[in-house]
Amino acid sequence: MPNLLDPIARHAAVSPTGIALRTATAPWTYAGLRDASLRYAGALRDAGVGAGDRILLAAPSVPEFVVAYMGIQALGAVAVTVNTMCTTEEIAYYLTDSGARLAIGWHGLGPAVAEAAAEVGVPVWHLESGAPTDAAPIHGAVARTSDDTAAILYTSGTTGRPKGAQLTVGNLLSAGEIAATICRSTRADRTGTGLPLFHVFGQASVMMASFTGGGSLSLLSPFTPDGMLDMLRRDNLTILVGVPTMWNAMLHVAGDAETDFSHLRVAVSGGASLPGEIARVFESRFDCSILEGYGLTETTALGAFNDVDRGGKIGSVGAAVPRLEVGVRDSIGHPCPDGVVGEVFIRGDTVMKGYWNRPDATAAVLDPGGWFRTGDLGEFDADHDLRIVDRLKDLIIRGGYNVYPGEVEEVLYQHPDIVEAAVIGVPDDHYGEEVAAVVVRQPDSDLTEEQVTSWCRNSLSAYKIPRIVRFVDQLPKGSTGKILKRDIDCTGLQKTS
Ligand code: ATP
Repeated sequence: MPNLLDPIARHAAVSPTGIALRTATAPWTYAGLRDASLRYAGALRDAGVGAGDRILLAAPSVPEFVVAYMGIQALGAVAVTVNTMCTTEEIAYYLTDSGARLAIGWHGLGPAVAEAAAEVGVPVWHLESGAPTDAAPIHGAVARTSDDTAAILYTSGTTGRPKGAQLTVGNLLSAGEIAATICRSTRADRTGTGLPLFHVFGQASVMMASFTGGGSLSLLSPFTPDGMLDMLRRDNLTILVGVPTMWNAMLHVAGDAETDFSHLRVAVSGGASLPGEIARVFESRFDCSILEGYGLTETTALGAFNDVDRGGKIGSVGAAVPRLEVGVRDSIGHPCPDGVVGEVFIRGDTVMKGYWNRPDATAAVLDPGGWFRTGDLGEFDADHDLRIVDRLKDLIIRGGYNVYPGEVEEVLYQHPDIVEAAVIGVPDDHYGEEVAAVVVRQPDSDLTEEQVTSWCRNSLSAYKIPRIVRFVDQLPKGSTGKILKRDIDCTGLQKTS
């Protein structure tokens, strides 16, 4: 009779004073977190919320997010976790689409949640810092089935309005167990992250994994590279989880100081391709393996992962994780041999039940055999480890030749004056698409467009070289810090020669 509160309740019973959440002020013990969650569930019950009801939750990564989320779970309701940056219009859409009966917004956020709730006619609660409620607790977590929906996370996909991926109790419990297993997490571990918990990566691979392992979790919100380094030192973290832009930003402020980071056992990177150069510099600066993994919202953040004992393999996301299968198929659905690029498919315990109220969209990505179509291109290497080549939709076809942006970005990141880079295709009358590089330089750099092009010429075939180079102060990023190519302003991106 599973419930997402089970891992917390289990550790609270065995080790009530064990630290579940570490903060700069007062830590939360496992027993404290369990009791606060049951009280929050009591407050929801008193408000008439019942099993299966959808509750929108908009909050940053603070302990109170965890209490509200686990309170919703304990009562058997469904958490619809949304980005704290959402506008009124976006929240109104999520409330309407999910049929939410309550909106919970962090008190420090702007008026979007309250405005949207008023517009849609849904009550709103403000989540305060400190103890979120003194309501009478429910007596224990409500028994659910593995197939009951626990959370709905909206994902934009390529077309149409965002779709709500329904992650079940079984998906999220399995994700916690798998992530804890592959990181060899134990009660001695101190995990830390700057990822938002409203996103699947933070929610499943970090929060559920840490509670499953029984160690402590340190949260940073919003992410800043200095804040992440401070948290790493303050809490003697053993596991650090983030996306490549976070590692890159940390390396730019970490300096060469003699700080001892020997407590750090492993850094887990996901969400986007980890440039080899960032991995190499990170490993030497922090003297710890950085392991790349791969997953999506629809697969509860899991798919493939490098092996902790073997260490990171640069350019690879490793093998399929336990309880999941990964396949690579050609355009007519046949399995690709190793070394041949095709679309990546995933099947197993963490694959979503489907999109909320969207049977057609679900049928387009989930086949009757349970295989989920990721929309990513990948290939297996000789060890049957997976390499993610790029998103199918980001593939650039220049004059009939395939250009994988990630391959070009990899070369750009090796340039000492380049801080960040995104390679995109722009329409071209002659070639159909032209390769464009949008680049952030080091602040004091006088790197020119021609120098960027000639740097690429040393390593890439002619058709892959960006003919268009634009310098920008920053690249648009999503909630996890992942570069959002679709939001890059392409106006004026034209060939100059
Ligand atoms: P949104 O829903 O906001 O559009 P998204 O499309 O990025 O975001 P997510 O589910 O957050 O959706 O991210 C999944 C995608 O992230 C994958 O389909 C893949 O393209 C990319 N990704 C994840 N991990 C890696 C990795 N290690 N290497 C390359 N790409 C990755």
